[in-house]
Amino acid sequence: MDWKSERNELIETVCTMNKLGINHGTSGNASVRVDNGYLMTPSGVAYEEMREEDIVLMSFDGSYESIEDRRKPSSEWRFHQDLLSARADFGAILHTHGTAATTLACHRREIPPFHYMIALAGGHTIRCAEYATFGTQALSDNVLTAMEGRKACLMANHGLLVGEASLRNALSLAVEVEYLCDAYWRALQLGDPVLLTTEQMDAAQENFRKGYGIASP
Ligand code: 13P
Ligand code: ZN
Repeated sequence: MDWKSERNELIETVCTMNKLGINHGTSGNASVRVDNGYLMTPSGVAYEEMREEDIVLMSFDGSYESIEDRRKPSSEWRFHQDLLSARADFGAILHTHGTAATTLACHRREIPPFHYMIALAGGHTIRCAEYATFGTQALSDNVLTAMEGRKACLMANHGLLVGEASLRNALSLAVEVEYLCDAYWRALQLGDPVLLTTEQMDAAQENFRKGYGIASP
């Protein structure tokens, strides 16, 4: 099985995240679940130059198959692997270095319920994972804690992470969370925004549970 269409969808997704301005350069990475493993973007390769054969096929024991040994998997394969292992609801993971998300992450701020769309990420807040060096198991452990019961988290002094059922949904959620980070940062310029109550957030969550979709980019 060569996973041709999945490889191409992965490349299309990371190119789109740069085109939409929620990431830049070779920052960020993405993965998608296949059969007994997952496909992972390679480390440090420009997205617009990425080809099917650059995508790395990973096993859940951390071993990988790279065509003609040309590429190493993303330095962040650990948190992609750990999230896909721990969360049956995730079929795809996206990591970005968007400006607004990174700005808040540098202040290690949890995003409070200042807007009902926060509920789209699975809870009443979007947490910020504790800092650890990129590419380490410690970072993966911190991220897994911050993602408990959530589909998105900030990563301290680093960026944003989202998990969803598919690459399409993960990209939509990353776009939405980047917007929320931008709106929160702007709202803070005028002082502390009014926060929604637990009941109001529960009602928003209930609406999302009933099947309200998120717009595709
Ligand atoms: P990779 O190019 O190794 O995926 O690293 C990018 C990144 O964002 C590290 O956190
Ligand atoms: Zn990163």
